Amino acid sequence: MGKTGKYDHMKLIREYAGGHKNLILLGRFLAGISAVLTLIPFYELWKIIRIAVEGEDLHSITGHAWIAVLVIVGALLVYILALLCTHVAAFRVQANMRSALMRRIIKLPLGVFDEDGTGKIRRIVNDSTAATETYIAHNLADKTVAAVTPVGLLVLIFAFNWKIGLFCLIPALIGFVCMMSMMGKGMQQKMKEYQNALEVMSSEATEYVRGIPVVKTFGQTVHSFKRFKSAIDGYGKWTTDYTLVLRVPMTAFMTCINAIFLFIVIAAFLITDDGVATGDILNIMYYIIVTPLVTVALTKLAYSGEAEMTLIDALKRVDAIMEMSPLEETSNGMTPKDHGLELRNVTYRYAGASRDAVQDVSLTIKPGEHVALVGPSGSGKTTLAELMVRFFDVSSGEILIGGVNIKDIPSDQLMKLVSFVFQDSRLIKTSILENVRMARPDASEEEVLAALEKAQCKDILEKLPNGVHTVLGEKGTYLSGGEQQRIAIARAVLKNAPILILDEATAFADPDNETKVQEAFAEMSRDKTVIMIAHRLSTVTGTDRIYVMDEGRLVESGSHEALLEKAGMYQHMFAEYSRSIEWKVGV
Ligand code: ADP
Ligand code: MG
Repeated sequence: MGKTGKYDHMKLIREYAGGHKNLILLGRFLAGISAVLTLIPFYELWKIIRIAVEGEDLHSITGHAWIAVLVIVGALLVYILALLCTHVAAFRVQANMRSALMRRIIKLPLGVFDEDGTGKIRRIVNDSTAATETYIAHNLADKTVAAVTPVGLLVLIFAFNWKIGLFCLIPALIGFVCMMSMMGKGMQQKMKEYQNALEVMSSEATEYVRGIPVVKTFGQTVHSFKRFKSAIDGYGKWTTDYTLVLRVPMTAFMTCINAIFLFIVIAAFLITDDGVATGDILNIMYYIIVTPLVTVALTKLAYSGEAEMTLIDALKRVDAIMEMSPLEETSNGMTPKDHGLELRNVTYRYAGASRDAVQDVSLTIKPGEHVALVGPSGSGKTTLAELMVRFFDVSSGEILIGGVNIKDIPSDQLMKLVSFVFQDSRLIKTSILENVRMARPDASEEEVLAALEKAQCKDILEKLPNGVHTVLGEKGTYLSGGEQQRIAIARAVLKNAPILILDEATAFADPDNETKVQEAFAEMSRDKTVIMIAHRLSTVTGTDRIYVMDEGRLVESGSHEALLEKAGMYQHMFAEYSRSIEWKVGV
């Protein structure tokens, strides 16, 4: 992207087209030829009119008509050939763009892929590349036609009678000026706003549909509608404002290009002022037939301008992903000496946030220790856990595994060292077998089954029609939150990494599941370094050490007993927790 001046979209397209860029050129050239050919029948038409007006040699009309038909068919064939070229090139560009995007996306920090991010990225990978494809396949050829036709028409118009030609040109020129005023600088900005409004509306719609269960359960209505409604209102307001801005230039444009006839009539009066000659009648009739073409050509040019703006917006969105900085990959990977974890003054602030989500946290976890992170919601527990697996890089401080900074561990090695089960474990639309096997693609079916059994998933497999081969999300096969969680645990079991991070992994579990999930954890935690985030404090009492977080800071640490004696935040939290349990039992 050029820092100054115009956005060179064609240069970008040529880059993505690679070896196919000449095909784009050929396609445009052929489209130009076809545009010129399309004008020839109008010359034949002029001849036919002349013959008709002069009343001589009438039988030769058929010959001219045939030439016109043949040339039109020829023009059509050449145009099809042109589209063939541009389509092949367009598919190549789209494929290259998508693979470039995917190559970049794979290197991005995992933290980019939160709920918000995935929707946006999906839209760019699908829609923006599709917009580029449409532009190259159709609009580029049309744009050439739209540019060649007026030039050809001008030649035709001036060749017969330059005076009438000049009259035709006046409204065409005014129309052109109106059109350019619509396509001005502000337009690109408008286009961006339009795409943004569309994006907000569609993501709010998804969010709304997702939230329907909650809405129904809690009988909420107005509040849940609010954001969706304001997105629609925003879009509506934008569209109305935009339409109003375009009202005058668009009306002027349409009036001008459709008023060309009027100008011909004036021209006819002026020219025939001193007596009517046969040639004049011939030319005037001819112009009445040809001038609508000017209208068509100008309209096409207008639309090609609009398509170009859609394209530029799409390319800029693709650029935005391509310019995101990937996680820096170390060039000289180091191997951790053990599976202990150490955090040194770790601070992290989300982009755009006004305060640190994690602030100056230091802690040491020895290999094989089981520790817990507790604290109120929003205290930074999840962020801390995500930093440990490099969802994002720390703003300052260091995270070390086995004495090596995680930035110096190659990312595939790091992933082998750490398994994590996060709150929102995602399963994909494939069989349970493949879902679990994602953790270790070379695992045999037996190994997957053993992992599922360890994760207490036997009952899930038994109730599904095809057992482990059942495809999720198909034919109404849906799993409950707790069941999905257990499948996610099976993944972690199969991976069998020496460090295990569990973030409120029992949050979804119902009481029946919870016991099972706890058994699964106990089973998989043996001989491993475990960091566990839990809001059910009963599950953390047995850990080696509990870290208490509050507002991003580490405020206390120690064993359950030691922390209770301290009479600090943990004691308070535990008292609250015990009361809530009693309360539940009491009801
Ligand atoms: P916990 O897991 O303890 O509930 P989190 O680590 O999720 O806490 O959040 C810590 C803080 O960081 C909160 O103030 C939260 O609003 C903020 N936060 C979490 N995720 C993001 C994000 N993707 N972008 C911006 N701020 C975030
Ligand atoms: Mg959390």
